[in-house]
Parts: sequence; structure tokens; C-alpha cells
Amino acid sequence: MKWTRFFIPTTKETPTDAKVPSHQLMIRAGIIRQVVAGAYSYLPLGFRTLRKAEAIVREEMNKAGAIELHMAAMHPVELWEQTGRVAAMGDVLLRLGGGGGDDWRSRTVLGPTHEEIITEIVRAYITSYKQLPVTLYQIQTKFRGEARPKSGVLRTREFLMKDAYSFHTCKEGSGGLDETYQRMYDAYCAIFSRCGLPYTVVEAESGPIGGDASHEFMVPTDAGEDYLVQAEDGSYAANLERAEVAPLEDPQDGTNAPLKEVHTPNSSTIEEVSAFLGCKPSDLIKTIIYEADGKPLVALVRGNHEVNEGKLARAAQVSSVTAADPPLIEKVTGADVGFAGPVGLNARIIADQAVTVMNDAVTGANKTDYHITGVNPGRDFEFKEIADIRNAVEGDRAPNGSPLIFKKCIEVGHVFKLGTKYSDALGANFLDEGGKSHPMIMGCYGIGVNRIMAGAIEAWHDDNGISWPMAIAPFHVVICALDMRDQTVTELAGKLHDDLEAAGVEVLLDDRDARPGFKFKDAELIGIPIRITVGKKGLADGVVEIQTRRTKEVQKVKPEKAVMLIRDMVATALQTERTEPIT
Ligand code: ATP
Ligand code: MG
Repeated sequence: MKWTRFFIPTTKETPTDAKVPSHQLMIRAGIIRQVVAGAYSYLPLGFRTLRKAEAIVREEMNKAGAIELHMAAMHPVELWEQTGRVAAMGDVLLRLGGGGGDDWRSRTVLGPTHEEIITEIVRAYITSYKQLPVTLYQIQTKFRGEARPKSGVLRTREFLMKDAYSFHTCKEGSGGLDETYQRMYDAYCAIFSRCGLPYTVVEAESGPIGGDASHEFMVPTDAGEDYLVQAEDGSYAANLERAEVAPLEDPQDGTNAPLKEVHTPNSSTIEEVSAFLGCKPSDLIKTIIYEADGKPLVALVRGNHEVNEGKLARAAQVSSVTAADPPLIEKVTGADVGFAGPVGLNARIIADQAVTVMNDAVTGANKTDYHITGVNPGRDFEFKEIADIRNAVEGDRAPNGSPLIFKKCIEVGHVFKLGTKYSDALGANFLDEGGKSHPMIMGCYGIGVNRIMAGAIEAWHDDNGISWPMAIAPFHVVICALDMRDQTVTELAGKLHDDLEAAGVEVLLDDRDARPGFKFKDAELIGIPIRITVGKKGLADGVVEIQTRRTKEVQKVKPEKAVMLIRDMVATALQTERTEPIT
């Protein structure tokens, strides 16, 4: 491909709203262009990389036995109502809207994912255990009403997802969900490894999608919005929602002070109360009222900790917890919102482990505008249930005692064991050998293809630009023909281009009539892994120069040796750039 025939609108300008490297570099390298907040066009260079990432995903899915199909982006809202996800998704579920009432537009949503649609398809055609298991997948555009699209293509409202769904008669054993889950897990490792992404696999919370086991594939990067929590000794990794913490060992200092009711007018938040009383947020016991399975449930954590609702629900053995609304809070505490405390409270209370070592703490008095000081847990209120119900914070330890380390990251892939949530809701059943009907057992498996691209840039760039892994580079090689007015240079550059193409190497020939420095800068910016420099000076010595983008290593070779050497370099890079999961 010749540069002058292609379309590479590189620019020096970095848009001010582009904060993270992948966003800045994708714009500067002419890879993407924003159409509207949260939606991007992929320009030719970007499209080549996207297609390569997609091809790797497709190859590994096929190898793992998944069958490709393509589902519509427009869905009838009825299916989403039947699974209860209109409410669970909220504003993320985009409606065509307009028309109103029974108009087709207001009954149509744009798919943020496809559990409902695939389950409807399988329900229609699969009736017997003999037709199971089956794994179906697609690589298709998703739509989500993300509140804050940000960081270029890392979080958008329109993106390309590979989504796979498996259907089974059983969990364990041959043909069961566990077997396919493991096969998908392994395929994901192969995909991210081939794409050259540094990645870690963590235990994850299943969230509103439901289900009982799930893992996330994370790429550590400051551009991420998630946190990866790892034990320093490498024994443990989870996302923030799931990370377990060991109990705190050291009791807080205290004098076993007596209980004292204090007037705290207009101070109801942790910050207001600690400022008013001149104490630290960690001296307060945060008392939060939830509703769980129709009953009030009270969670106690330290003022500087956050309740983890997933952990709380598991500890309480309820399906989910939701923050109580003001009338319920007032009923439980007998006070306005903001003055709840465990002393004398008559409700089910679960205390976080870290509350048990508090002394002389401050809590709400269950009386509007009042708090109590000198609260000593155990003395002033009884612990009926103690559990790990909060998010891990810096300074915490893993259950085995190893210190926890926090790293920012982005999620590139996610595998779930769904169980029968969707088959129950939509009636996707099969008949067993005895003719008895059962709901199908499901798994689902997603990968963000755009995030593979952006994740690779986050991991592989320097001050001068992108440094693509060979496997997803838009071209393997760029030939910088200096001296475009010199016939020997243009002829040799043209011949190298043709010979490389014939040898199966993807080559871009920079045939612009521009200064060497300008061409080198652009080549580095767009991140092509290998550069060949053909110039008058080198040719006078009978050589061309081959430079590796990542290592900057330079070799001078005779032009007739260049094609073979480069073919080998490309093949070697495809093997050696594969990554192993980070532990
Ligand atoms: P996140 O927690 O980052 O919002 P998610 O958990 O909502 O992601 P899933 O529903 O598991 O995402 O979707 C599967 C994959 O699709 C994710 O692993 C991610 O790679 C990709 N993805 C999800 N949301 C977006 C988005 N807004 N923009 C780009 N890719 C996305
Ligand atoms: Mg996810």
C-alpha cells in the first residue's frame, strides 16, 4: 500500500478533552474520529487493527467450538421486560423512542448485550437434550446509554463486542457448563496473549446480569476506571467488588469512655459530623439501612469505609440489597435520615469486621439532630452477625495476611456462569431422556474488541507514539523512502514494497515528497513495528536500514537480503510478543 493512495490523516494537535494516551494517540495517528459523544468512526488505519483483533477473536472462538451467527441490534422491549432487565439496566438500555404509546419505536430497544435474543432463538429451535450443548457467538455492535463516555474508545455508547452464549443440560461433567466455561476461559487467555496485551484474570461480581461464577480479564493501566486488587505474595487477585479483606487486628485506642448524647444540628453526613465533633471519619460507625427481601437490614461499617452491597447480600444470604427509602429509614430509627446508630436499634444488624475493634466511637442516636459519643461495640450494643461487608482499601490485607496492592485497570473480557436466570424467565427448556422438561443451563462470554485496541496502545506506547504488537499492527512494515526525487531510491523502495507484499508481508510505502524527519515522526506515531529506510546515503554504501519500533535496534543490510530478513522478523515477533497472564 502506498501512503499517498491510502488515508492517514495524522495531526500534531491533541484535543484538550483527550486525557489518556490511547485517546490522544488514536486521534493524532488518524485512527479514529469522534462522530458524537461516545461514538467513533474508525478511519482506515484503525479499521485494519480492529479487523485484526476481530480475526484473532474469531479464530480462537471457532477453535474452541463456538458457532458464529449474527443477531439484530433492534430488540422488542417485551423480551427485556420478561427478564426484568428493563428496570435493572435503567438508562443504559436505549430506546428508539418517539411515537409514544404502542408505536413500534417506543417498543424497540437497541441491544446492549444479547442474552434475551439468543435465548429466544434457542428456545424456538432446541427442544431435546440431544441438541445440547451448543455455544453460539457473534461479533456485533452494541449500544449502551453510558452516563459518562470517556477515555476515547475505552468507554463508548456504541462499541464492538464479541458475545458468546452456551446452553447445557448440566453443570458438571462432559458437555456441562463448567467444561465450556473453562474452554472459553482458555480461549480468552489465547486471544489476549496473541494480541500482546498484559492481562490478569480476576474473580468478579456477577452484577445485574445474575449468575453464580464469573471472571474478568483486566489490563492494568492508569486509563482504567476499575481497580484490580492483588495480594502482594501473588496468591490472590480479584476486582474491587470481590476482593476479600482480613479482619483488622489492632484495637483502636480508647478509654472506655461513657456514652454521651450530643446535639449535632444540621450535621448528618460523616464529613459534617466528624468536622463538628473534631474527630476522624474512622472514629464514626456508619449505619446504613437497606431493604432486603422486603425486610430492613442494617449494615455497620467504619466512617471511612464503603459498604459492598454484593458482600452484604451474600453475608445476609439474601438475593440482593437496595438502599432503604426515607420512610423506611424513619420507621426503623424513629429519626430523620442521617441519625441512625446501632445502640438500641431493633432490627437485623450485620457489622463489618473492622467495627469490632473500634473503641469510643461516634454513632447516630436514632434521634433527629443527635449523635452519641463513647460508643464501645460489644458493651453498648451486641454483635449478632459479623462479616466482611466492605470494599478493600489501601492498607488492608488479604485473608492470608499478605498486604493488598491496588492497580487501576480496564476490563477487556468477562465470562459468566449464568445458570438458569434467562432460561427460567423466557421458558427455554429441554426434554431429558425420560421426557422430563428442565430449564437450560447457560453461560455467557463477552470481549470488548475496541478495548483490545485501546488497551494495546495503553500498554505499548512512548513519547513518540504507538508501538503496536505485530499481531494487530495495521501494517507490519513501513518503508520510508527518503529522497523521493531520486530514481534509484524510488525504484528500490517500489521493488521492496512489491517483493514484501508478494512474500505475504503487510507493507506501507511512505512515498510522500517530504523531509526524512517528518516521515520518521509519522512512522513512529502510527506505530508500525518495523521501519525500512531507503535513502541515497545508505544506497551509496549498498545498504538499507531496518529499525525495530520498540527496541530502536538498527540493522544495515543489503537490499536483496531485506525481504527474507523481514519475513523472519515478522514471524518471530508474532511468536515472541505473546503475553502470559500477570500474577
Ligand atoms: P464495565 O464494567 O467496564 O462497564 P461491563 O461489565 O458493563 O463493563 P460487560 O457487560 O461484561 O461489560 O460487556 C462485555 C465486554 O464489553 C466488557 O468486558 C468490555 O470489554 C466491553 N464493554 C462494555 N462496556 C463497554 C463500553 N461502554 N465501551 C467499550 N467497551 C465496553
Ligand atoms: Mg463486565
